[in-house]
Order: sequence, then C-alpha cells, then structure tokens
Amino acid sequence: DRAVEALTRLVRDIPDFPEPGIVFKDIAPLLADGAGFAAVISALADLGRDADGRPVVDKVVGMEARGFILAAPVAVELGVGFVPVRKAGKLPHETHRVAYALEYGEAVLELHQDAFTPGERVLVIDDVLATGGTARATCELIARCGARAVTFAVLMELGFLSGRAVLGDVPVEVLATV
Ligand code: 5GP
Repeated sequence: DRAVEALTRLVRDIPDFPEPGIVFKDIAPLLADGAGFAAVISALADLGRDADGRPVVDKVVGMEARGFILAAPVAVELGVGFVPVRKAGKLPHETHRVAYALEYGEAVLELHQDAFTPGERVLVIDDVLATGGTARATCELIARCGARAVTFAVLMELGFLSGRAVLGDVPVEVLATV
C-alpha cells in the first residue's frame, strides 16, 4: 500500500541521535515528499472513519511537535477539530499536567482543561511509538478532561521497546513496525 511504501522509502535512520546508542527515525524526507505525505495522512484519516466513510471521532489530538504536523491535516480531512498536547509552559489557559519518563530523559505534557466536551471521542496521533510514555501521558490527560482516547495511531512503532504494553486498553494502530 502507498503509505507503507512511502514510510519504507522516505524515513531514514540517524545513528546516535539525540544521544549515543539511539537510532532515530527521521521523518523529514517523508514530509518533504508531497505524494508520500499525502499517502500517510490519508491512511491515518481512514483510522478515524467507519466503513461508510463517516468520522467516528469528535477531535484529533497531536503531540508537540511532530504529532502536530500529522494530526492537524488528519483533523481537516475528517472534518473535525484539532487539539494540541504541548510541552510544559506553552499553553496559555488552565491546563492539566502529566510528568513521564522518555526513551531519553523526562518530560511534562499539558492539555487545556476545556479542550473537550465531556464524553468526546478522540483519535490521538504521533509519529513514532517508542517506550509509550508520551502516548500514555497523553491518554491520561485526555481522560482527565472527561474525554476518551478511542485510538492511538502512529506512523511507526519501535517494536523492540514494547510501547503498546503501557497503553492499557487503548487500541493502537501502526502503519509500519520497525
Ligand atoms: P516514547 O514516549 O514512546 O518513548 O517516545 C515517543 C516520542 O518520542 C514521540 O513523541 C516521538 O516523536 C519521539 N521519538 C522517540 N523516538 C523517536 C524516533 O526514533 N524518531 C522520531 N521521529 N521520534 C521519536
């Protein structure tokens, strides 16, 4: 399929970034390719529709920063709103905060407390699922706002890190496992 072909051809491995021993999946060449970018956005948007093509989610959430690049066009394609999950100190209104451990280091994520109407169904999108810490923190933030992450979708899963194990009962959708 076109999305998998684009991911295979246009994502490159960068050894020892951002630290020695880490092999970083760089999606910049994929984003720079019009057809490849369109193919992955279309494949991600399909995860937010039923068999008749109707949206089954009320919002799309993306995590700073690469998640924004993917989640915003998916929201437009589905005809639903986009909500950003941001790093500490960036959101101007009242927030919920969750601290979590990264594959490398530690981080805090925030979400505006009024980002959702209670009960809303949310499609969460990021570029890469590694340890799952970012994904888990995001789903927890969404729950604190009274909404529900119904699908967590990524371009690529680093399978050897078993990130999906920490996500509990949130269904994980992956375009490619590497
Ligand atoms: P996790 O929290 O699952 O350990 O890490 C996932 C987060 O770190 C995602 O937001 C993702 O953007 C970033 N990340 C971790 N490893 C990689 C990688 O190899 N490539 C890219 N593009 N992002 C990564």
